[in-house]
Amino acid sequence: METQLFDVVIVGGAATGSSAAYFLLSNPDFQGKVLVLEQDPSYQHCATTLSAASIRHQFSTPENIRMSMFGTEFLRQFKRNMDVDGDAADPAFVEGGYLFLATNDGVETLRSNLEVQQAEGANIHMYDAPDLAAKYPWMNTSDLAAGSLGLSGEGWLDAYGMMQGMRRKAISLGATYRSARVQKLLHQNGHITGVELDNGEQIHAKFVINAAGTDATRLALTAGIDLPVQSHKRSVFYFTSPAAVPGCPMVIDPTGAYFRPEGEGFIAGIAPSADQDPPCTDFDVQHELFDELLWPLLAERVPGFEALRLVRSWAGHYDMNLLDQNLILGPHPHMQHLLFANGLSGHGMQQAPAVGRALSELIIYGQFRSLDLTRLGWQRILENQPLIEKNVV
Ligand SMILES: Cc1cc2nc3c(=O)[nH]c(=O)nc-3n(C[C@H](O)[C@H](O)[C@H](O)COP(=O)(O)OP(=O)(O)OC[C@H]3O[C@@H](n4cnc5c(N)ncnc54)[C@H](O)[C@@H]3O)c2cc1C
Repeated sequence: METQLFDVVIVGGAATGSSAAYFLLSNPDFQGKVLVLEQDPSYQHCATTLSAASIRHQFSTPENIRMSMFGTEFLRQFKRNMDVDGDAADPAFVEGGYLFLATNDGVETLRSNLEVQQAEGANIHMYDAPDLAAKYPWMNTSDLAAGSLGLSGEGWLDAYGMMQGMRRKAISLGATYRSARVQKLLHQNGHITGVELDNGEQIHAKFVINAAGTDATRLALTAGIDLPVQSHKRSVFYFTSPAAVPGCPMVIDPTGAYFRPEGEGFIAGIAPSADQDPPCTDFDVQHELFDELLWPLLAERVPGFEALRLVRSWAGHYDMNLLDQNLILGPHPHMQHLLFANGLSGHGMQQAPAVGRALSELIIYGQFRSLDLTRLGWQRILENQPLIEKNVV
């Protein structure tokens, strides 16, 4: 069974796929046809929907900082650019800031990261412990030496709303979204030729984008490519608290625990230790993480959280790049016209606009135009040379 030819087929229509579709079709230099294949139009299990949906400029790698800064710019213009027939999508962007806390051991890293961030133009300020105590009287600062706060541009958003806004806009610009599961990639002589669906139907394309999140590894293998990306579970806990915490940003504790305001309450999480973090595809929440580790840490940092009330929780999957927890972007040298955007490892929501734009440039111009993301390509993977990001949350 055969169908029509598309210029670009995108596998996966969540944040990354919809961003790529939007950036392709909003570029006057692109005149092609775009098909987005999404296996689950309810989007209930994808990382995008289950995300903690926060955006920070506090990375240690210039490319990550720049990508997130573009994410902020994109969010600030979102309502205008995603408008369809006068109806503007709202990603509910709150510029509440990130606060990275450090004990004596972590101060040097915080300081060297700050230098990189400021050199890239990020608006980050470092506070010493007395400043932190004065600014956040609800916080226990007794073990802290410093903290770095994003004064603008960082915060949180409605990830589902952002994705749906991009999707809707892409459709208004001509993208076709189809509910279908891609079973395998089709290729010939080192050149991608299209995809095959699970019903056997083949769809031919000049370019294919693998934006399939945690299914990207299986798909890549059907083209003989070993993508070092694995699905790892992260649980998110929503709680309310009688504690007053005015001006609470997204707080990243030195222990790796995080919390931030969300609606009337807060969300929080922490990565499990490596031995408790196997590759994983179920959605069972790791309640023991909350009871045994996270809650005590939250109560230690904010004494008022001792009396918090856990309201709900959920688990989602990171598409974890096992080499360096950074994005793998662009073509593999052995397969032409197959573009990857995988291994986003927990920062793909904020990077989705920059990644979509980069993919569109690779297709339209054959090179990056806005932001040189060459270092995030396949070469480092093939040479086993990690691009180290020190600020992984
Ligand atoms: C708990 C949690 C917290 C997070 N917190 C943050 C955060 O604070 N900030 C941040 O920036 N990022 C965060 N992330 C990461 C971010 O959500 C993801 O990196 C981002 O959403 C990835 O988007 P994606 O479109 O690449 O993948 P996904 O959202 O996973 O989408 C992939 C899509 O592909 C579809 N698909 C898969 N296989 C096929 C197939 N064979 N055929 C057709 N369709 C297919 C899926 O149905 C899915 O809709 C978090 C993630 C999780 C799980």
